[in-house]
Amino acid sequence: MLRVTSLGSGSKGNSTLVQYKSTNILVDSGFSCRELESRLSARGVLPQKVNAVLVTHEHSDHFKGVPAFANKYEIPVWMSKGTSLHPTVSKLKDLNLFNSHVDFVIGEINVEPILVPHDSREACQFVLSAEQSRVGILTDLGHITPFIVQKFQQLDALLIEFNHDKSMLLHGKYPPKLKSRVGGPLGHLSNEQALEFLSDYNCSRLKVICAMHLSEENNCAELVQSILEELTSGLSVDFVLADQNDGFDWIELV
Ligand SMILES: [Zn+2]
Ligand SMILES: [Zn+2]
Repeated sequence: MLRVTSLGSGSKGNSTLVQYKSTNILVDSGFSCRELESRLSARGVLPQKVNAVLVTHEHSDHFKGVPAFANKYEIPVWMSKGTSLHPTVSKLKDLNLFNSHVDFVIGEINVEPILVPHDSREACQFVLSAEQSRVGILTDLGHITPFIVQKFQQLDALLIEFNHDKSMLLHGKYPPKLKSRVGGPLGHLSNEQALEFLSDYNCSRLKVICAMHLSEENNCAELVQSILEELTSGLSVDFVLADQNDGFDWIELV
């Protein structure tokens, strides 16, 4: 069966692991090599068993840890052409480019890149699938586009960004420039935006919603928890909040 786990999520580092049979795909790593090794070990996965690293975009909370880890274990790294133009990417020994409009296969997992509006070049998020199971990862985007709505359908698990509460961001400590970046159309998805997307979402197939990339400064877990409790009440959909330190444990999608 297809399984997914978060090894940590938030502005201090993100990494998600998707597994099907013997294929392990790591999506991003904002953690040091040693930190990532220990987080993988907590989920029972040896670094040598990671078949590929997919990179969503070059921001350090997603990419900082990728070169050291991938080079050490000789793991191929996949990203869009736009992401590959960033200078830090030149450290990678095994760099592979995908066309962000074309699905491809790694081992036994199908990878569907989906372009998202974010302040980096050709940022992509992914729907990963195997047999009948589909998991969607959707973080680091300033707004939801009709294309995203169309692509993120018929999922069994949806990992979606709940970055900030709009009013907490507005009244919080961030300098004005950062506030407008985070809250702008190329920034991060607010609780309100995520909820709007989910309210219209056809949940007939969905088993679990995972709230990702919560801001420690401009959000609070209890708030996201209550939003999701209300949203899922009466539905047969579970939810989980991804933690900065421990992500969330394996979720199995039959
Ligand atoms: Zn991020
Ligand atoms: Zn980002």
